Amino acid sequence: MEILVIGGGPGGYVAAIAAAKRGAAVTLVEKDMLGGTCLNRGCIPTKAILHSANLFHEAKDFAEMGIVASAPHVDYTAVARRKDGIVKQLRGGVEFLLGKAGVDVIKGTARFLSRDKVAVATADGEVEIAAQNVIIATGSTPCDLPFLQADGKNIINSDHALALQALPKSMVVIGGGVIGCEFAQAFVRLGVTVTILEALDDLVATMDKDLSALMKRVLKKDGVDIHLSCRVQGAQDTGAGVCVTYSEADGAQKSVTADKVLIATGRRAVADGLDAAAAGVVMGERGNVPVDGGCRTNVDGVYAIGDVTGGIQLAHVASHQAEIAVENIFGGEEEMDERIVPYCIYTSPEMAAMGYTEQKATEAGYAVKTGMFAASANGRSMIEGMRDGLSKAVLDVGDGTVLGIHLAGPNVTEMISPFAGVIKFEATGEDVAHMIFAHPTVSEFIHESILDADKKAIHKV
Ligand code: FAD
Ligand code: NAD
Repeated sequence: MEILVIGGGPGGYVAAIAAAKRGAAVTLVEKDMLGGTCLNRGCIPTKAILHSANLFHEAKDFAEMGIVASAPHVDYTAVARRKDGIVKQLRGGVEFLLGKAGVDVIKGTARFLSRDKVAVATADGEVEIAAQNVIIATGSTPCDLPFLQADGKNIINSDHALALQALPKSMVVIGGGVIGCEFAQAFVRLGVTVTILEALDDLVATMDKDLSALMKRVLKKDGVDIHLSCRVQGAQDTGAGVCVTYSEADGAQKSVTADKVLIATGRRAVADGLDAAAAGVVMGERGNVPVDGGCRTNVDGVYAIGDVTGGIQLAHVASHQAEIAVENIFGGEEEMDERIVPYCIYTSPEMAAMGYTEQKATEAGYAVKTGMFAASANGRSMIEGMRDGLSKAVLDVGDGTVLGIHLAGPNVTEMISPFAGVIKFEATGEDVAHMIFAHPTVSEFIHESILDADKKAIHKV
């Protein structure tokens, strides 16, 4: 079995290793750096910066914790150096694993010539590779706004923000989605004056409304100036800062000036120059490569995974689809179960969710009951000095099935994945109520929120 993988992100490199471990002869083509967006310009570097920012923030409470220390300050050069070191080490790990698995890695840009033939432009010229099966894993890139393009100087996107070597004094973040909120908190906690301009009436609007509202409260408390339901009209780099003009929900014309403007308004699939049409692949309207649940394109033997498909843009989804595509190349009939995708935000408090939000469950026709328990009433949250948080359970009124779990608090991103068992196997609230949660842990608030759906929470009046 020959498999060619195009793109070395968390989709592509996982597919290559999984296929090689099944005995396939695998070639991986990557035009830039192994690890893709996630490792080099996404998940890992953002969380490294957030970690430093949150430690600095927590240091402000040292006296309350009984620790006497002189006032800390931020050395951003060191923050950036640590982030780069982590990225480099992990990238070396990916390279090592690919080598050990026997994957032939080619540095170059791939372009389809036909269904089973690809040309790769390398530093030493073009090479042609033939393969029975091809997996497209070319990822995504930040979107510009129609009236505002990131220039990498003072108008930047997430790639540029992660490459900053010094902190600006002020920053306007356009877009209050996951990227906008994670960067806003990291920068404000490192001492930058941050403004968010968001078009919708909620931050992280795809999350449950109670988590969106909590995000707004937390970022406001951090000092972020948040403007919702606003329309950004343009931005001008005046030399003394970038002046962003926008209208508020009531139509009032406003402007805000900052050293940097971060455009965080979404990402688009990258298939530019790939010429997948030469393989017969019918492209999607947004330049994406559409697939079925088993990661198959419309062409036999051509698969696509991860951000390029135009589906959920998460590293763990790309990696999961990688395993599905490989399984199916080897004759399997696997499909991704979107109900059990964990959605995590690495702000402080962290947020984590799985399954239906209350709003989505209602829209889908369920009659729902919800239970809620606040982190402020949870012993472990109090010990850790993290009182902002909650657990919310969404259950079907009829048979008590757990439809969704929504969490905010310390380490909740570590708690959500095992709930796949609950959602996938349609466990009921009663089933979860019979699980034993260790004490004292933050996770006890999940138990309480499940009980609360029937007004039976123990530590709640
Ligand atoms: P990518 O990681 O984009 O990899 C695609 C690779 O293909 C790239 O290396 C590219 O160079 C290569 N390529 C493209 N075209 C060609 C070609 N023609 N020939 C050869 N190579 C090619 N997700 C999470 O799950 N958790 C997070 O915490 C998280 N944080 C994020 C933070 C930021 C700031 C950003 C921007 C994203 C974040 N994401 C996060 C999303 C995550 O990074 C993506 O969902 C994930 O990287 C998608 O993986 P992929 O393999 O599909 O594509
Ligand atoms: P997003 O779609 O999550 O958020 C973009 C936001 O920008 C939305 O709230 C949207 O309403 C707003 N917006 C769009 N146009 C606007 C305009 N003209 N003016 C003001 N606001 C505008 O996209 P993102 O935050 O860029 O993230 C991209 C992807 O990266 C996400 O889908 C996410 O899955 C992934 N990601 C995940 C994580 C994580 O898992 N923790 C972290 C970062 C990124």
